[in-house]
Amino acid sequence: MRTQDELLERFNDLLDLRADRLECGDGWIDIIWEALEKIEKCEKPSPDWKIQIIKEKFGGLRIQSFGFNQETDDIINLAERKSAYVCEVCGSNTGTHKKKNGWLKTICDKCDKYHDEKGVYPLSERV
Ligand SMILES: [Zn+2]
Repeated sequence: MRTQDELLERFNDLLDLRADRLECGDGWIDIIWEALEKIEKCEKPSPDWKIQIIKEKFGGLRIQSFGFNQETDDIINLAERKSAYVCEVCGSNTGTHKKKNGWLKTICDKCDKYHDEKGVYPLSERV
């Protein structure tokens, strides 16, 4: 299982994150990892191009940078679309959009139930 620290170290050359970390749940690490591996091999918009923001917004993954080209754009769009089906908490591919305390989250039924009972999300199985 991959951790956020592993991801940040592995793709250090590609990332210049404003928050110095991912602003989303660990359930999406595999999606992000896969996208960054592809971006690594593609032609960058510029030699010093970096990704500034990886976050959750309106229940979906957002990967943002200054400048893009068709290749990076396609890779990022695919990753963002995938996040609509993957639980942000545990990474299960049975995630669906749910409204939690007025916020849209993409989570699976198991994590949703856990949250309803305990008021927090389960610790990631990756920990
Ligand atoms: Zn889950």
